[in-house]
Amino acid sequence: MISYKELGLVNTKEMFAKAIEGGYAIPAFNFNNMEQLQAIIQAAAETKSPVILQVSKGARQYANQTLLRYMAEGAVEFAKELGWANPQIVLHLDHGDSFETCKSCIDMGFSSVMIDGSHLDYEDNVALTKKVVEYAHQFDVTVEGELGVLAGVEDEVSSDHHTYTKPEEVVDFVTRTGCDSLAISIGTSHGAYKFTPEQCTVDPETGLLVPPMLAFDVLEGVERELPGFPIVLHGSSSVPQEEVETINKYGGALKAAIGIPEPWLRKAAESAVCKINIDSDSRLAMTAAIREVFATKPAEFDPRKYLGPARDNMKKQYIHKIVNVLGSNGHAE
Ligand SMILES: [Zn+2]
Repeated sequence: MISYKELGLVNTKEMFAKAIEGGYAIPAFNFNNMEQLQAIIQAAAETKSPVILQVSKGARQYANQTLLRYMAEGAVEFAKELGWANPQIVLHLDHGDSFETCKSCIDMGFSSVMIDGSHLDYEDNVALTKKVVEYAHQFDVTVEGELGVLAGVEDEVSSDHHTYTKPEEVVDFVTRTGCDSLAISIGTSHGAYKFTPEQCTVDPETGLLVPPMLAFDVLEGVERELPGFPIVLHGSSSVPQEEVETINKYGGALKAAIGIPEPWLRKAAESAVCKINIDSDSRLAMTAAIREVFATKPAEFDPRKYLGPARDNMKKQYIHKIVNVLGSNGHAE
């Protein structure tokens, strides 16, 4: 048993309270490899933004949970070397699917876990979430629960339809489980193909497809029921069209990938939404940079010559998200 505190990590409690108070949101970026982690830490250190490093089931299978945990420990020291005296870094399990998975992450130094019982019956979700909270709180680890189902695919989390969160259930759920934050479903979804073109309208000025508006009425209903309680949005990539165009220009074949417009996320960040999950956008940034090198410098075979530009492109995007979308810069001096 290792406490995250020994690793220099923090839980989400204080940063969420400050984010709600200050009208901004904390970025939760998934990581699977060193270049992605370097880019996240460089971006957070340069902007002095609190940051949540997320580890999904897919990441644990791809990179190994133990290795990712030590990488996060290294990230704290790296952040200090970059001149960030007091790094505010959370190591969070994304979409924990069982009590055992959550326990194993807590025992090895994660500072926050999500238990995703959203696919279960309501009472089973309450019971599972409560069990994880009771274990986690002994070690000061914070727990995110989920009510409502998001459409889309993220690693192995998939559903073909939305079920919006019911505001009338949230007080009962939070009170009975004791969870520290709540992921809700208001129309965001996992993956780079969040909407079909048929679901969208065309913006007359830009010619770009605009997805159906998020259910801000559901968010407002949740806020009314749970004033000041930390709310989480999953599946909040925006699918930057310039990255999609670069990928397709250099041999990719992404068709009509559509995300959540950034101004909508900005609006959410100003509310009780204090954690916004972004994964697909960094995948696009990485792939675009690598494809460009492969296409324009076909003789190159040193991985640093394409993973380096990929890292730079992800870092640029993380800074953009922090400063222009979430507004979390300058909140972790
Ligand atoms: Zn998610």
